[in-house]
Amino acid sequence: MRPLTEILAEVSENLADACRRSGRSPDEVEIIAVTKTHGPDVVREAWEAGLAKFGENKVQEAAWKIPESVSGPEWHLIGHLQRNKVRAALELFSTIHSVDSVELIRRLESIASECGCTPEILLEVNVSGESSKSGFAPEAVPAAIEAALACRSLTLSGLMTMAPFVPDPEMARPVFARLRELRDTWERDFGIGLPRLSMGMSHDYIPAVEEGATWIRLGTVLFGARPTLRDLAKAQAAALL
Ligand SMILES: *Cc1c(COP(=O)(O)O)cnc(C)c1O
Repeated sequence: MRPLTEILAEVSENLADACRRSGRSPDEVEIIAVTKTHGPDVVREAWEAGLAKFGENKVQEAAWKIPESVSGPEWHLIGHLQRNKVRAALELFSTIHSVDSVELIRRLESIASECGCTPEILLEVNVSGESSKSGFAPEAVPAAIEAALACRSLTLSGLMTMAPFVPDPEMARPVFARLRELRDTWERDFGIGLPRLSMGMSHDYIPAVEEGATWIRLGTVLFGARPTLRDLAKAQAAALL
């Protein structure tokens, strides 16, 4: 595996090129470093390389990893959040990308107001309509925006999507373009700003940036193939000793 600083320089160059091609400023795009299945050592290395925002997809995994990691990073939840994990999630994460039901919005608001947290939330939109994916169908989003705007503790800042996994990342482009168009429509309809677009992963972040992504969620391209559950259990056991 090449040194992370070298990989990061290359990714930043790709980002800058994608921004240039689409007339955007590279300042508009930030990397969310996805450390799921990696241990606190990887978090530390990434933090030292200059990454500041980290993504995890499971509350339980984050609950042991975050306290063991360097303090300073901003932690984002990018995976499905179960209602019974909302309280734990709000203790760990300042931003939740994967809000996918109105019930979850209400539950987040109720716990956040109780604990005095003010999380930033994004609504996950299932643009491609794949049944295996979570997220709101586009037509369900206006009701969710209304519900989120009625919440005093939550700040709705944008939208998130996952493109279908396709061999050629160009095939994911229409999904990213569609999310941006939907965002523009809802901004107009509600007279609000939804500045964050969380879209693009290791294999498709370039078209995502060209189509307006502000947060790209990168795991594999930065940290290599993810370790197995067995490796993770070992890291966890080591951390508990
Ligand atoms: C794992 C994960 C990522 C990162 O995926 P890579 O392909 O490793 O970059 C991004 N978003 C979500 C929601 C994930 O679960």
